[in-house]
Amino acid sequence: MTTSLFISDLHLDPARPEGIQLFDDFIRNKAVNADQLFILGDLFEYWLGDDACEHSGYQAISESLAVLDGHNTKLYFMHGNRDFLVGTGFASSVSSSLLPDPTVFRLNDQDVLLMHGDSLCTDDVAHQQFRAATRSEEWQNNILSKTIHEREEFARQLRMNSQKGNTEKSESIMDVNQAAVEAAMQEHNVRLLIHGHTHRTAIHEFQLAGKTAHRIVLGDWYKKGNYLEHDQTKFSLFSYPDDTMLASIKITKESSPTTLKKRQA
Ligand code: MN
Repeated sequence: MTTSLFISDLHLDPARPEGIQLFDDFIRNKAVNADQLFILGDLFEYWLGDDACEHSGYQAISESLAVLDGHNTKLYFMHGNRDFLVGTGFASSVSSSLLPDPTVFRLNDQDVLLMHGDSLCTDDVAHQQFRAATRSEEWQNNILSKTIHEREEFARQLRMNSQKGNTEKSESIMDVNQAAVEAAMQEHNVRLLIHGHTHRTAIHEFQLAGKTAHRIVLGDWYKKGNYLEHDQTKFSLFSYPDDTMLASIKITKESSPTTLKKRQA
C-alpha cells in the first residue's frame, strides 16, 4: 500500500521567510516518510518563469523539494492560478512530474480526480476569462519573452487587481460551484475529488447520481500548514506542524463511506 500526502496553496514568497521555513520542515520531517507527495497548485505566490527562479529568491524551495528525491518520495506538481508558468525546466530540476489540471489518478485501487480548484469557481466570470486567456500558449510565450523586470511589474499589477477584485466579490462567488463540481466528477467517472484554491479546508459528502461522493478541500498555509494524508482506505486532513486531525473519512472500493469525522477546529 502506498502512503500519499497532498498539499496546496502554500503561496510561498521570499517576503514571508517563515512560510518557506515551515514548508522546509514539512518536507524534511513529514513528506520524506511518504511514498508520494502531490502539490495541487499555488505552491508559489507567483512564478515569473523558470528562468526567474533564482532572481525571485525561490532557490531555498527548490532545495527543499530536492530532498524528496533522496528519500524516494515521488513528487507530483499541478499548476495553480498563481504559478501556472512553472515549466518542465523547474519540474525536472526538482525531479517532479507535472500533472495536468484535471488529472484522474489511481490511488491504490481507487480513481481520484485531482484539480487545483479555480476552474470550478464558475460563478467568478472574471477569473474564468483571465484563466482562459493566460493558459493559451500564445499568451504564455508573449509573457515569457519579456524581461524578468517587466514580468515582475506585470505580476505586481495582477496581484493588486486581484486583491481589489476579491474584496468586491461575494463569498459565494469565490467558492466552487456545486454544479461544476458534479459535472467534472461525472465527466471523469469518479466519486472522489481533491482540490485546493478556495482555502476552505473540509471534507464534503453529497449524493452524485444516486451514490455517495466526496470532495476534499485542502487549506492554505498562511497562518499554519495543513495536509491530507491517504493511507490504504483512509483520507485524513491534518494541520501542520501540530498534526491535529481536522477531518477524516474512510472510503472503501465500493465507495460506501463508513465513517465521517466532522471537522473539529
Ligand atoms: Mn489558487
